[in-house]
Amino acid sequence: MFTCAQCGMLACSMDHPEKIPKNCPMHEQKFFDESLAEYEKPENHDFYIQSTIIEGIGYGQWVRLKEIIELCKQMGYKRIGMAFCRGLRKEAKIIDDILRKNGLEVISVICKTGGISKEKIGVPEDCKVHPGTFEPMCNPVVQARLLNEQNTEFNIAVGLCVGHDSLFYKYSQAFVTTLIAKDRVLAHNPIGAVYCAEGYYKEKLNF
Ligand code: SF4
Repeated sequence: MFTCAQCGMLACSMDHPEKIPKNCPMHEQKFFDESLAEYEKPENHDFYIQSTIIEGIGYGQWVRLKEIIELCKQMGYKRIGMAFCRGLRKEAKIIDDILRKNGLEVISVICKTGGISKEKIGVPEDCKVHPGTFEPMCNPVVQARLLNEQNTEFNIAVGLCVGHDSLFYKYSQAFVTTLIAKDRVLAHNPIGAVYCAEGYYKEKLNF
């Protein structure tokens, strides 16, 4: 069992192999060597290198949206997909405008596409946000499939629900990056709960 989150050594960030803790994954050097080969694959190599260059050039200066735009430019991507949440449609329009101004072609698909009621897929009536009313299901599989059909080169997830985002990642053929992680309580800033976990959010998080 690996417990990097609880590690006090962080030998992986230093050049001191002798400080590797007992249950450190780095004891399996062969595994790391084999995994390195994955980065060498043509479909991964340039993407990984360019992502890392962006990290370096923009470090502490470029906001995430700028980093995404620069990654698209570095990779030569022209056709970008955006899967967005209906609740963030105003923001999605602004993002769409910004991407276009930066020379990108944007194919966007809203989560509620299809307009299919939640009960049709088996969501219990009493688990809807407003039971007794028509509520369209989020449709991340279709969002991904529509973007696949449009041959988008890179996809951006904007505010998809927890779990729905997972299905979108699973079905997207192109690489996906998340611009906005949905948090309806914290203005889409989920780490706010972590910063307050030892204080105001202690009980809410059962911490
Ligand atoms: S990889 Fe090893 S040294 Fe690095 S955080 Fe995990 S346990 Fe600690």
